[in-house]
Amino acid sequence: MAAYDYDLFVIGGGSGGVRAARVAASLGKRVAIAEEYRYGGTCVIRGCVPKKLYVYASQFPEHFADAAGYGWTVPEVSFDWPTLVANKDKEIARLEAIYKKNVAGAGGETFHSRAVLVDRHSIYLVAEDRTVSADQILIATGGRPAPHPALSGHEHCIFSNEAFDLKELPKAMMIEGGGYIAVEFANIFHGLGVETTLVYRGREILSRFDMDLRRSLHETMEKKGIRILTHSVSEKVSKNPQGRLDVLLSGGQTLTVDQVMLAIGRIPNTENMGLEGVGVELGKTGAIVVDEYSRTNIDNIWAIGDVTHRVQLTPVAIHEAMCFVETAFKGNPTAVDHDTIPTAVFSQPEIGTVGLSEDEAVKRFPDIEVYRASFRPMRHTLSGRDEKMLMKLVVDSASRRVLGAHILGPDAGEMAQLLGIPLKAGLTKDAFDRTMAVHPTAAEELVTMYKPTYRVKNGERI
Ligand code: NDP
Repeated sequence: MAAYDYDLFVIGGGSGGVRAARVAASLGKRVAIAEEYRYGGTCVIRGCVPKKLYVYASQFPEHFADAAGYGWTVPEVSFDWPTLVANKDKEIARLEAIYKKNVAGAGGETFHSRAVLVDRHSIYLVAEDRTVSADQILIATGGRPAPHPALSGHEHCIFSNEAFDLKELPKAMMIEGGGYIAVEFANIFHGLGVETTLVYRGREILSRFDMDLRRSLHETMEKKGIRILTHSVSEKVSKNPQGRLDVLLSGGQTLTVDQVMLAIGRIPNTENMGLEGVGVELGKTGAIVVDEYSRTNIDNIWAIGDVTHRVQLTPVAIHEAMCFVETAFKGNPTAVDHDTIPTAVFSQPEIGTVGLSEDEAVKRFPDIEVYRASFRPMRHTLSGRDEKMLMKLVVDSASRRVLGAHILGPDAGEMAQLLGIPLKAGLTKDAFDRTMAVHPTAAEELVTMYKPTYRVKNGERI
């Protein structure tokens, strides 16, 4: 008779939790997983997946406009927001079912319940009003949009969660923040015909990316008609007699819009789940503190994904899940590798990037070479669209290793995935130079930039 009901109990049915549950169950472990909302988590239900679908929806007006140069006459078009929302709902319901089915298919048990830790081996299932026990416990409860209680009138604002399911498309919208979510949603709503203003407190949007790309994206977004106010924050949001929202900005200006969306970061979901009682250590932001194997200070309790506030990306949570299973169930301790993570911002145009930005490289290496190409992609020649593509490789002059690759333009996300391989492998610029181009593509530029555009030696650009 086993000492516990389960070998593994997973709390949270998002990308990380489901992967760990499924893989552990397929090893023959007795696994259960509890999710209080919907299986699939942020990524599937109110993040990456619906976001990307909305990005596609928002790109059609440009495709229609570009078609003329290729000989097409596009009749008058119209857009129906409720149709998009309903079709998105159908797709995420399908994916949600698959997530759940995959756990069950591997032999795991799924619960629809909030789960609260009672002690280091016991979990209380609220919806079932019973306590179960497990040898190992994995917490993968994710995160949620950071609230903004300091903002007067914050109760009138929405977050990305609500933005997906608005009853109607607003005429005008303000988005606060300059990160992934703010920038992606600004492009989505603008593309769908909403008058959009992005309000960002810093000097330039997307603070963690290469400055060249940040500036070029900013310019392109403004050219499309998105208003971007930098060095600016909202100070007060109030409802006016017409039922619209007046937003007082730090510069003294007032914006009148129909929706204000806050995208100022995300915080971990760690409240009211018994963590403090069991003694699981939390960091300053409320995130669960873990070691490189995702183990907490309690040796049979583990945590992965956004709840640990390491790198908030779906593939990272999945990687952490796989490392956890190796460590906890396969006798193969595997540290999580957070180095050189390719990533994309689904702005319009897209950003795809991997490795060090030029500024970061300059801080770490005394001598770097920058290979930079800015050109009009072929698809914009006949369309007449005045939009440039930007590609940049940052190379360590001493070792010739490519430290960073940065792309702004169509399909940049797809390219970043492939560039992730040579950069992770530590390949040199010579390996890029030896690679045959695929013609005609935009990506061929990455293997045909033979001469450095400039060099930065001891902080000085040559
Ligand atoms: P980010 O951390 O990317 O950006 C937060 C933004 O809010 C920053 O511009 C920040 O400014 C600003 N900010 C923070 N606090 C305040 C404040 N009090 N007042 C005004 N502005 C403030 O968070 P997001 O919410 O955009 O996204 C959360 C995470 O989700 C991302 O970090 C990313 O990991 C993930 N994500 C990934 C996507 C993808 O892979 N394509 C898509 C969407 C989300 P500052 O720059 O000055 O700090």
